[in-house]
Amino acid sequence: MFSTMQDVPLTVTRILRHGATVHGTSTVTTWTEDGPVVRTFAEVAARSAQLAHALRDELGIREGDVVATLMWNNTEHQEAYLAVPSMGAVLHTLNLRLPAQQLAYIVNHAADRVIVVDGSVLPLLAAVLPQLADTLEHLVVSGPYDPALLAGFAGGVHEYEALIADRPTDFPWRDDLDERAAAAICYTSGTTGDPKGVVYSHRSVYLHCMQVNAADSFGLTGQDTVLPVVPMFHVNAWGIPHAAFMSGANLLMPDRFLQPKPLAEMIDRIRPTVSAAVPTIWNGLLDELDAGGHDATSLRMVVIGGSACPPALMKGFEERHGIRVVHAWGMTETSPLGTFATPPAGLTAEQEWPYRVTQGRFPASVEARLTGPSGERMPHDGVSAGELEVRGPWIAGAYFAGAGRDPERPADKFSEDGWLRTGDVGTITADGFLTLTDRAKDVIKSGGEWISSVELENQLMAHPEVAEAAVVAVPDEKWGERPLATVVLRPGATAGLRELRAFLAERVASWQLPERWAIVEAVPKTSVGKFDKKVIRADYAAERLEVTLLGKE
Ligand code: AMP
Repeated sequence: MFSTMQDVPLTVTRILRHGATVHGTSTVTTWTEDGPVVRTFAEVAARSAQLAHALRDELGIREGDVVATLMWNNTEHQEAYLAVPSMGAVLHTLNLRLPAQQLAYIVNHAADRVIVVDGSVLPLLAAVLPQLADTLEHLVVSGPYDPALLAGFAGGVHEYEALIADRPTDFPWRDDLDERAAAAICYTSGTTGDPKGVVYSHRSVYLHCMQVNAADSFGLTGQDTVLPVVPMFHVNAWGIPHAAFMSGANLLMPDRFLQPKPLAEMIDRIRPTVSAAVPTIWNGLLDELDAGGHDATSLRMVVIGGSACPPALMKGFEERHGIRVVHAWGMTETSPLGTFATPPAGLTAEQEWPYRVTQGRFPASVEARLTGPSGERMPHDGVSAGELEVRGPWIAGAYFAGAGRDPERPADKFSEDGWLRTGDVGTITADGFLTLTDRAKDVIKSGGEWISSVELENQLMAHPEVAEAAVVAVPDEKWGERPLATVVLRPGATAGLRELRAFLAERVASWQLPERWAIVEAVPKTSVGKFDKKVIRADYAAERLEVTLLGKE
């Protein structure tokens, strides 16, 4: 028997129409050098229509064509987020922190026909233009720029505002799109090998947004103002730009002002209720708030994900500033919302912590399982560790192999029965709480036992004089591998390595204690702000680190 229900395609077009009308008075505020610039959702939708006209009528964009953005989080980027998928084209968000070679690779691989680029990042694009294939026909530059940078570009160059000006403010948006058609592409920011393309469908974006707006996630409503510090080129800013149009939450866009001071200032002034970012950014913001002078109490919730959130960071926000931090896990391949760490009911604040420092629970739409080293299913008992595999309606089932080619399903990324192999290692409790101990490639295999680099880092970062700590595996003659601890001290710190080792000795088993230690100025970071452990391992191998050996006293 078939159901009697309507079969309405779940599309970005629906999200756009809803936000533009029902939430037409909600606002997108972009932080600029000259203060905040505010536009209503209705205005943003009208400008999206103008952009769609320009892309279609002037630049010849048709259904299925790829339109890329190389932009900060701002109103114009939001306009592209809405216009491009809703006209049936595909939005490709380019990561402006990618190394030049990778940037060129993904523009060519996705066959971008147009790139909408912020004038402030044009030098990055200009540097790779000679490497770009002739599939790229037009550049649309938003904001002031230096035209000399584009002297060698044979395609069309357009100024964003001039291009969209005087065009109709409504557009025959596609209501009949196949919900399984491509809406957006995002490439992984993998530190090894070429980036891999994940193509989100209209349906996956829509369902994921509903999850973002669910009470057990960001829980966005029309009463919120949300500050996506996470870039719109990093897994669609975790779904927030579209989810806001669905729920009516105001958006506060930080543009390129991602340093602790302007962030604290915009929070103080615009008073967002929810925000989201990776731990490294929040670390800097916490120091800024600790220094005093800014009020961040408008924030009812800050979501941290992208790498393991050190418990000390969560507690710092909560205990010193009354801001609740919620830990979440996800990846480019999972849209990204995979887990969210809401503790169970009936616990005291103290009892909640062991749940809150986990990566959290999977929503109903995301199934999870753990696979052991020989392919066996590991029990969800909170102890047995294995590689996390997931499946669900917003989880990738393959990678984009280029236009006209069948998608790729490499065996190390997808199981034979179609689950995504995340490369993350951890445990799951019987009631569904995921705790990640490592990336599979980052675990430290010492004498047949696994040492969790994340656990050592979290414990080290709980020391008040430690700003950041990254622990990696290095080769060891006796044990195969041993941990190397690299530590960034806070300004004015007096603690020496011996003291840090003693601090750690009180918190982890003695066989896990690193012998090799190095104080560094900064932990190298990837293009999305994660610890770049490959670089640390290479620095160690090339003897670029000043390593101190500390054994038992
Ligand atoms: P990306 O595709 O760049 O978002 O990277 C995804 C990877 O980031 C995941 O596979 C994890 O290794 C890591 N990650 C994301 N969130 C967390 C988290 N809350 N705790 C630990 N690792 C995380």
